[in-house]
Amino acid sequence: MASTLHTYNFPTRIRFGPGARHELPTELTALGIQRVLIVTDKDVAQLPWFPELETILVASHAATFSGVWGNPVVSQVNAGIDAWKASGADAIIAVGGGAPMDVAKAIALMANHPGHLFDYEDGHSTRAIDQPIPPIVAIPTTAGTGSEVGRSAVISDDDTHAKKIVFDPQLLPKVVLADPELLLGLPAKITAATGMDALTHLIEAFLAKGFNPLCDGIALEGIHLVAQNLKACVDFAQRLQAGERFDEATAVAHLAARGGMLNASMMGAIAFQKGLGVTHSCAHALSTVYDTHHGLANGVMLPAAMRFNLAAEPERFLRMARVVQPGATDGREFVEWIVGLSGAIGIPASLGALGVTSDRLGPLVAVAIKDGCHPLNPRAVTERDFHAIYQDAF
Ligand SMILES: [Zn+2]
Repeated sequence: MASTLHTYNFPTRIRFGPGARHELPTELTALGIQRVLIVTDKDVAQLPWFPELETILVASHAATFSGVWGNPVVSQVNAGIDAWKASGADAIIAVGGGAPMDVAKAIALMANHPGHLFDYEDGHSTRAIDQPIPPIVAIPTTAGTGSEVGRSAVISDDDTHAKKIVFDPQLLPKVVLADPELLLGLPAKITAATGMDALTHLIEAFLAKGFNPLCDGIALEGIHLVAQNLKACVDFAQRLQAGERFDEATAVAHLAARGGMLNASMMGAIAFQKGLGVTHSCAHALSTVYDTHHGLANGVMLPAAMRFNLAAEPERFLRMARVVQPGATDGREFVEWIVGLSGAIGIPASLGALGVTSDRLGPLVAVAIKDGCHPLNPRAVTERDFHAIYQDAF
């Protein structure tokens, strides 16, 4: 008889709210941390609040490594390991979106482990993770990957762009300081693309095979938060980019919307311990073959992927539809809602708009079929299905 025992894990300590970053020194003291290496990307390092963050740390700031950009690759991790060794730090503070979070985790893994990062690839490792991993504190500055509440990192090979996963429970940040003030300057395009990543995590987690009603509940409330806040965040970002200065009431509404998305993003990553699905496999292939931004790739693929999934889980689609439209009577209304939201926040409606050409469908399908996400999709996906889903997204 199959096992009927299940594991639920919600271990991350999260301090959420405007100004949470100011608790950094207190949290470091509580963790017994003396000196930190900040790992961030080159854009975040240019933001006006970044020097303030270094100042908050006062004496415990050893160095900052900001050599992260785009889809993170091994050479960035190696440069970060050099920075770690030169810094004399005993902990890492990861500041930014998914890329610096993942690089920070990879640096932490390699701090005391020999060899090449990919020697420790999850499921294909040739060396054991048996040495101490320095603690990580995470400060997210986007609402998308939710990597701050996860214990894995995705790093690409510099030459092949193949994405590899490293995983260890010790890679889970010891504390997350989730401060929506840090998201107020996020451009509209990044807000939209990262928001679609969060939404895709929530939907795919809710639909994923397996039994985890705790994750299902978190996913549904997360979808509600996206429905309430994502379009508003993009609108606020566009108005700021157009040079508008907000009055106090508008600034308060903007902060509340950013807080809603920051929670939705963490809820997505917490929920997908249950699994992801076919959208992520399609998106991972687009990032490998075209270096497409992960959230953007998910946003473009999500409608076609969900049209494929609808027949497998009509009741679950109806439940999601009722979260975003209480009067919904058919799961198809949820797919229509995704298409409407996507268009309203400026996500391209087709793969063609991303520069994808149909003669590259073969390589895309070849990568997607090998991806580790679709085996938990509620409907089995064959090579022929991947072809059809990509075609549908054109
Ligand atoms: Zn994702």
